Amino acid sequence: MEQSIESYIKNLVRDVIGQTLGSLQIQGDRQTYVIANWKMNKTLAETAEFFQEINSSNDVTVVVCPPAQLLYPAHLFIKQSGKPVHLGGQNVHWADKGAYTGETSTAMLKDVGCEYVIIGHSERRQYASEDDSLVNMKVKQSLMAGLTPIICIGETLEQKNSLQTEEVLASQLFGALNKIDSSHFIIAYEPIWAIGTGQSATAELAQQTHAYIRSVLKQMFGEKAESISILYGGSANQSNAAEYSKMPDIEGVLVGGASLKAKSFDGMIKVFAKGDQN
Ligand code: PEP
Repeated sequence: MEQSIESYIKNLVRDVIGQTLGSLQIQGDRQTYVIANWKMNKTLAETAEFFQEINSSNDVTVVVCPPAQLLYPAHLFIKQSGKPVHLGGQNVHWADKGAYTGETSTAMLKDVGCEYVIIGHSERRQYASEDDSLVNMKVKQSLMAGLTPIICIGETLEQKNSLQTEEVLASQLFGALNKIDSSHFIIAYEPIWAIGTGQSATAELAQQTHAYIRSVLKQMFGEKAESISILYGGSANQSNAAEYSKMPDIEGVLVGGASLKAKSFDGMIKVFAKGDQN
């Protein structure tokens, strides 16, 4: 298929920006992540199979976030496999313990081997009415417990179409990070219109939005913002991962659907592992 001059130039500019900035080490010591969000999927047997099949890498931090009841078996499967894979929860409660039926505390997550936790995923904001102040309480609780929060932010299609993306993201960031000094968290930019729809954001749009997110983080955290990893999420897969990996402000991906099959998840790990970015 013939490439138009316009797309040729766009690709060229993107490659030059990505490679040049990368080689100038503008990314500082930002860690690269490929994170699986299994949502409400997989049985015990499927979990065992996944960890047998997966080929992780030491050049990228791989985190798998199974449903709560699969966390401990997943921890054992990972240990047994000897693979450098980390474990994360999909949600956590803001209180230490108590009468909160069906909830999971930070201590419980840590007890079963978790180091990370997803907070404020758009599905929880939608189905469990989580708002920025609740997200903020959960982030504080997680940081206190030594878990790394993966804080999800993103705009709806309606907000995107009415040019409110930046306003929405800034408000989510200020809300989620209110009165937080530590910069030991990960931001996942997940445009809601891209989640599970197959309509991923282009790498150029994601880069532009990530750069904006970093500018807001700079207002809040100063130079520390340079070392905060910002991941893209929303129909990321084996085919589009390479485009994201070339961008100077995209330090990995949070993956839903494409993380369920070890083969496609592996493909994404390979793309983000150092030296494989091409
Ligand atoms: C998600 O829900 O975090 C996600 C990124 O889903 P998907 O990759 O399926 O769009």
